[in-house]
Amino acid sequence: MVFDVLIRGDGAVGRSLALALAAQGLRVALRGRAQPRADDVRAYALNAASQRLLAGLKVWDSLPAEARTPVVDMQVQAGGGRLDFSAWTAQADQLAWIVDAAELDAQLDAALRFAPHVQRLDDAAADPAHRLLALCEGREAVGREALGVELLQRDYGHRAVAARLEAELPHQGRAWQWFSPDGEILALLPLDRPVPGHGYALVWSQPSARAAERMQLDTDAFEAELKAVTGQSLRLHGLRSHFPLRLLRAERLAGPGWVLLGDCAHLVHPLAGQGLNLGLADVAALAAVLQSREPWRALGDAKLLRRFERARAADTWVMSEFTDALWVGLTQSPPWAQRLAGEGLSALNHLPPLKRWLSQRAMGSSVF
Ligand SMILES: Cc1cc2nc3c(=O)[nH]c(=O)nc-3n(C[C@H](O)[C@H](O)[C@H](O)COP(=O)(O)OP(=O)(O)OC[C@H]3O[C@@H](n4cnc5c(N)ncnc54)[C@H](O)[C@@H]3O)c2cc1C
Repeated sequence: MVFDVLIRGDGAVGRSLALALAAQGLRVALRGRAQPRADDVRAYALNAASQRLLAGLKVWDSLPAEARTPVVDMQVQAGGGRLDFSAWTAQADQLAWIVDAAELDAQLDAALRFAPHVQRLDDAAADPAHRLLALCEGREAVGREALGVELLQRDYGHRAVAARLEAELPHQGRAWQWFSPDGEILALLPLDRPVPGHGYALVWSQPSARAAERMQLDTDAFEAELKAVTGQSLRLHGLRSHFPLRLLRAERLAGPGWVLLGDCAHLVHPLAGQGLNLGLADVAALAAVLQSREPWRALGDAKLLRRFERARAADTWVMSEFTDALWVGLTQSPPWAQRLAGEGLSALNHLPPLKRWLSQRAMGSSVF
């Protein structure tokens, strides 16, 4: 049997792509490693475009209410300056949704069990015959090399420590982010799991050596360090995990018979919470390109896949340059430049149209 599409990699991007293509009646083979990380305490900030895609895949409504919490306000502090966003001024119901990563994986998995036309293959299986290869192997992809794809890479030398927290005060749907003068970035994302109304997902990026030390701290010491940055009383719930941070961008997103999607194609710093949003936008774009192809065009046709590449290249480039520039400007520059950036943030706070445009961009409802 020849599959229409072989998807290699079954993270959130590979699973979503399998569902989207199966819904078009394409025969899909999904090859994965299916080793859920017991310590994956991440949560994703998902924008409106990602939410719409997941709703269309019949996954969004299956997420338990406490596993998807709307963000209605956000405050960013950097270089002594401050920037506030609110759903109300952005004329939206919410700025983003914070979604439990493990729960999203579980619901995608459940949906795949009922999806016709999808065959799951384990890692030991040989690649079956196929017309189009979609690589969704994530950051450590090995398949890119075989395709001869060159990569732009920068190792940030930082790691993100992730954890779940309980706050003394209710979160009220507000997200927080602090850029410290020593280059650390701490984000608190409201999430009603583990504690309804008081839960946060923590993403704390910092130099790798410091992250390793903080992973070893006992609970009291870790909570004290959180308080020193945030000024809030926060209790650690469960495990901490940590992730190396890199910038990576493939110079090609498609070629004859193949496409790259998700972290395999572009890895960005999590400071703007956009990595999976980019990956899900890849899924939506590829599904649209394949659905609208001329009847005589083969799935692996290079001209067809070039349409996908054109649809995604600018968005991917802008987001990786934007997050990289923010990282350099707000964490790696001398103190005077960080103060200047902080003044810029405060000035932006008084420019509602520009703020609205920025929020709409982050919400996935407009393009540059
Ligand atoms: C701390 C942190 C916080 C983040 N926060 C956000 C956020 O708020 N919002 C947001 O949008 N994004 C966020 N991200 C980014 C997001 O986690 C990633 O963009 C997303 O998980 C990428 O999904 P993926 O499916 O492309 O890759 P992965 O999740 O890496 O999945 C790839 C899968 O492919 C499998 N695989 C690899 N090679 C093969 C092979 N040869 N055969 C079969 N299987 C293979 C792997 O085992 C893996 O399961 C964050 C990231 C971090 C580290």
